[in-house]
Amino acid sequence: MGRPDPKTREAIFTHLRRSYPTMCRRWFDDIVPIDLTGGTLRMLVREPVQLKYLRRRCQKQFTEAAQAVTGRLMAVKFVGENDPEAITNYSENNSTQANDNGNADYPLNNLGSNEDDMLISPDYSFDNFIIGPGNRLAQAAAIAVAKKPGWAYNPLFIHGGVGLGKTHLLQAICQSALRANPSLQVYYTSCNGFMTQFLASVQAGHMSEFRHHFRNVDILLIDDIHDLSNRDRTQEEFFHTFNSLYQAGKQIVLSSDAAPKDIPDLEERITSRFNCGLVAEVQQPGFETRIAIIQNKAELRQISLPDDVVVYIAQHVDTNIRELEGVLTKLQGLSSIHNLRIDLELAKQAVGKRIGSDTAHLPTVQEIIDTVTHYYGVKPSDLLSKRRNKSIALPRQVCMWLARKHTRHSLEEIGGYFGGRDHTTVMHAIKAVKTKREADGALDHDVEALEHQLMAVPA
Ligand code: ADP
Ligand code: MG
Repeated sequence: MGRPDPKTREAIFTHLRRSYPTMCRRWFDDIVPIDLTGGTLRMLVREPVQLKYLRRRCQKQFTEAAQAVTGRLMAVKFVGENDPEAITNYSENNSTQANDNGNADYPLNNLGSNEDDMLISPDYSFDNFIIGPGNRLAQAAAIAVAKKPGWAYNPLFIHGGVGLGKTHLLQAICQSALRANPSLQVYYTSCNGFMTQFLASVQAGHMSEFRHHFRNVDILLIDDIHDLSNRDRTQEEFFHTFNSLYQAGKQIVLSSDAAPKDIPDLEERITSRFNCGLVAEVQQPGFETRIAIIQNKAELRQISLPDDVVVYIAQHVDTNIRELEGVLTKLQGLSSIHNLRIDLELAKQAVGKRIGSDTAHLPTVQEIIDTVTHYYGVKPSDLLSKRRNKSIALPRQVCMWLARKHTRHSLEEIGGYFGGRDHTTVMHAIKAVKTKREADGALDHDVEALEHQLMAVPA
């Protein structure tokens, strides 16, 4: 029993950085071990968003590190400032006097008590969002909305390609709005989360609870709203949720991979609702923005990158920001496995190892068609035909998905390769593959095998 030795804290964090380099973040510095009682090492985390994140994502790793460092069987428990049990031992040494202000609990639960809710990442804050010409409007609108929910732009609709910061902005709004006003009811979920909860409530006969929940928030943020495409009943329910919040002056924030008019199979009345606030696009970052983003991510992960490495990555990874982050993760991995310093050589390796990178082979649509038809035993001419039976439709959809991911062609151009289909068909195919892969392990495996075959073709 008692306050843990500061050396133990240091040793635990050193162990974590060595064993789980890609998990560690600068904000871990704020975690304070309080005491070790009855085999439980309690660690205080003041920020509710960090607390929830650590509990869900880092519990095992911290426990493993604590055991390794002390050689004793113990468990790490993260506690919040307002947890009654956190206070007893901590207050003696705590100048801020956490619980004396009479406030209700900082509303961790406002982010949703349901385990299926999407977890907010402490990394996705406005502070960590780099502004550039491609996202300036979306960022400014997001700040305005977080400051004055329901006043500035309603709804705020952010759209753009994969990995360009939509989710980051939505989560930053959540964090910033809650910090400014802890009693705000903020609910963040994905479109699929909304849909799943809706369908489950219908089935269980709990629709009034569902409606009560969704129609009594101050800010509702739904990520990837393009997934409403084709979901008639969910569209209907969403429409009523939207209207009820909108009429009550509550804030709605949505993200999508396409502009409202380009989301296929969406009711006109919903499209027009999307357009009645602010529609802001996020676009690919330019070179300078990429440099700033890499520096920011490196700092967040507490890794030091030589300038030539930063420039090299920014020059060679220009598709989207998730890829940039992927390279950093790869780089950290290589450096820790081989116990090497991060330098230009290692950066070249990390960049080269990405699937679909510039230095790897970029397949042509024809190669994709050849590989896929061979794999599925169908004829290339079938893919271009109007035939819709499953044995043809699936390989065709997989081709479109691969073409979108691994070539630089636009949706229109890809449609052109497959008998002149239009871009909504291609978008639909891509979405279908994504959904089917999640549900069907065999298909998931097939697609991965195809990707490997394609990448193996020498340049
Ligand atoms: P999307 O939802 O648009 O697919 P995300 O928001 O998930 O993309 O972003 C992918 C990754 O890129 C995340 O790690 C995010 O933090 C990062 N990112 C995107 N835009 C920026 C930016 N402007 N500044 C810093 N990081 C960014
Ligand atoms: Mg996203």
